[in-house]
Amino acid sequence: MTGQTTALFACYGCKERFLACPECVTTIRVDPVTNRPPDAAIIDGKAVHVSPDPEAAARAVQQPVCDGCVSLRNAAYLKGGPEAAHIESLWETTEDRHRRSHA
Ligand SMILES: [Zn+2]
Ligand SMILES: [Zn+2]
Repeated sequence: MTGQTTALFACYGCKERFLACPECVTTIRVDPVTNRPPDAAIIDGKAVHVSPDPEAAARAVQQPVCDGCVSLRNAAYLKGGPEAAHIESLWETTEDRHRRSHA
């Protein structure tokens, strides 16, 4: 690989700093008012998937997510059960996306 560019990000999930390709980094849209994705809500202490509030969706900004958190999320989704009830699909990791995009 040539011309590798990485940038420093702070993960929305675990708050850790990580280096990733800025073109490929996984992002999630987060409402800055609630600090949650506009299509997620916490009901009885559990994250659930809801129809996005249009106002929250409009003000949402993209936040980076590290591969560690993407892997944890994917593992929860594959395991199923109440912890995964709000997860809709698998996410591609930044590493996989990076490999695919710059092939
Ligand atoms: Zn993370
Ligand atoms: Zn990349």
